[in-house]
Amino acid sequence: MTLSNEQLNILMKIVEGTTADSIDCDGCFGRIAEFAELELAHKTIPEAMDKVRNHLQNCPCCQDELNSLLDALASKQEPPA
Ligand SMILES: [Zn+2]
Repeated sequence: MTLSNEQLNILMKIVEGTTADSIDCDGCFGRIAEFAELELAHKTIPEAMDKVRNHLQNCPCCQDELNSLLDALASKQEPPA
């Protein structure tokens, strides 16, 4: 079977969306609090969090979540443990 260019493009998009380097919203939500705390503390985002950052850059809904988390954390201003 031969794939048309259009079918190939669709296939590539699916593959890109499921590479090991990307996570979905569930995966992002699981680590977003950790990410927000690092951001707030102006700490370097570790390589392990790159997936979260990448997802955030591409997902407005998770960006919203991050922003509200940052707001909540900033208003609490808990001393670092
Ligand atoms: Zn998301």
